[in-house]
Amino acid sequence: MKKIPFNKPYMRGKEMDYMRQAVELGHISGNGHFTKRCQQAFEQNYGFGKCLLTTSCTDALEMAALLLDIQEGDEVIMPSYTFVSTANAFVLRGATLRFADSQAQHPNICLQSTEALINEKTKALVLVHYAGMACDMDAFVALCQKHKLYLIEDAAQAVDSFYKGKALGSFGELAAFSFHETKNIISGEGGMLLVNDMRFAERAEILWEKGTNRSAFFRGDVDKYGWVDMGSSFLASDILAAFLYAQIEQLEDIQARRKALWQSYAQRLRPLEEQGLLRLPQVPEHSSNNAHMFYMLTSSLQERDALLQHLRSEGIHAVFHYQSLHKSQFYASKHGNRPLPNCDMFSDCLLRLPLFYELQESDIERICQSLEEFYQNKG
Ligand SMILES: *Cc1c(COP(=O)(O)O)cnc(C)c1O
Repeated sequence: MKKIPFNKPYMRGKEMDYMRQAVELGHISGNGHFTKRCQQAFEQNYGFGKCLLTTSCTDALEMAALLLDIQEGDEVIMPSYTFVSTANAFVLRGATLRFADSQAQHPNICLQSTEALINEKTKALVLVHYAGMACDMDAFVALCQKHKLYLIEDAAQAVDSFYKGKALGSFGELAAFSFHETKNIISGEGGMLLVNDMRFAERAEILWEKGTNRSAFFRGDVDKYGWVDMGSSFLASDILAAFLYAQIEQLEDIQARRKALWQSYAQRLRPLEEQGLLRLPQVPEHSSNNAHMFYMLTSSLQERDALLQHLRSEGIHAVFHYQSLHKSQFYASKHGNRPLPNCDMFSDCLLRLPLFYELQESDIERICQSLEEFYQNKG
């Protein structure tokens, strides 16, 4: 029986060619030819301010925390239902995290739960567009303006996704994308910091280049370069940029393919939802769907484990997702007992089905048949 993996990295044609070109151009460290092309593509196609290619979304988030000068004693609000990197970036700067709950109908952060956490120590709100689907940006932008909070978008999953037609990643002062091999377009490891508030642009480039004004020097803006601030090595190799650029060029085709696969799942599983056997993802109002992920919800943790096992026994690799950060070994005692029931529900019941560029319609048919089988035997 052919195994269906959860994810599979893929190439769209020019990746090897461009990586070779990068070597031949004689510059495969950071900020080379393909890095600039990747950054320009995002700046021009989506109207982001300044884009900086990083080694990961994790790095871009760490840069965001540095840029906002997050200090010990500052509070940062974020969903508990997220990846550890969202949280680590701010913990590394000494911030106190205040975890908000998810919405009842969607893993995205709940507005009321967020509002209740704001006080005079709150410095920033970090939004995560789960499954590439938009948070309610009108409401959160207004909330941040009212309370003078920085808005950061962890848009790791939200490349080429929109709220009321405006690109996700363009709302926050700062935002971050991921090109990890599990995302829509990939470079193995890779990410991008989006600087929309240009007050941060110059310093972002300095932090990126190990605390030096090397970028300004190579542009000819200053006549020598040196150590001017703190920083680290956040730049990605131009070999990775070359790989990524080949994918950026094929973005339309990649997205069309993913969306078609996503719709096949949704159509095929609708009858099971109508029978009340499982729940399908709901695309929030005003949000596009970039088909980053196809998830479904079971009615309990026990049912999800049994379903994962069943699929596994048929060679299908489905996976669960985040475990509530407010209950994690690292943060539970700092969080206290404040319950976040929606987050816990998604931790227990959410299951992600295989979705990648080379997945076949016949694979989806097999996966959906296997799901039907499970629910028939159960009922
Ligand atoms: C993938 C992901 C990250 C981390 O991205 P890396 O590029 O692997 O560092 C962070 N946040 C969210 C929400 C993600 O999905």
